[in-house]
Amino acid sequence: MALLDVLQFPDPRLRRRSEPVEKITDELRQLAADMLETMYDEPGIGLAAPQVGVPLRLVVVDTEWTEEDAERSPLVLVNPEILEREGRIVWNEGCLSVPDFNAEVERAERVVLRATDLDGKEIVEEARGLRAVCFQHELDHLDGYLFIDRISRLKRDLYVQKRKKALREAGGTWSAAGERPPAPLASRS
Ligand SMILES: [Zn+2]
Repeated sequence: MALLDVLQFPDPRLRRRSEPVEKITDELRQLAADMLETMYDEPGIGLAAPQVGVPLRLVVVDTEWTEEDAERSPLVLVNPEILEREGRIVWNEGCLSVPDFNAEVERAERVVLRATDLDGKEIVEEARGLRAVCFQHELDHLDGYLFIDRISRLKRDLYVQKRKKALREAGGTWSAAGERPPAPLASRS
């Protein structure tokens, strides 16, 4: 097991569309185990493979776990997709790849998700509230989207300026390619 480096905005690797997992290998199982270890260590309640630089449709979540209550209920989702969305909910979101920022995001309140587990078995789960929000947030990562793409332009621009300044002060470089989300599928030619 190993802790992985979590990429941070505006790393352009966060903006790629991830590829489906074709085959469940020992390497993939190891990646999922390392992602879970990294998620618990950060700590977070979800992590998507592109956040650790691997462009595959693989997500780990545990929305039951808190630092106070150490009981873990890890869930590994291979090739997850959302089958149904219903209702609206506003949640104050954060992201391990978006340092020093939280904002309210509106999403579906209830989703039905389908994926496979690491044994290739189908998982179908209905989720509401925080768990539904977490699923939608993590699946966004697989298409190169971050929660800051779903907030007002004003709030987003303020965060971008703040992040630019922090990076400049830390001696880092700004990647314009990672600043914007990829074009929606519908508008691609
Ligand atoms: Zn995230």
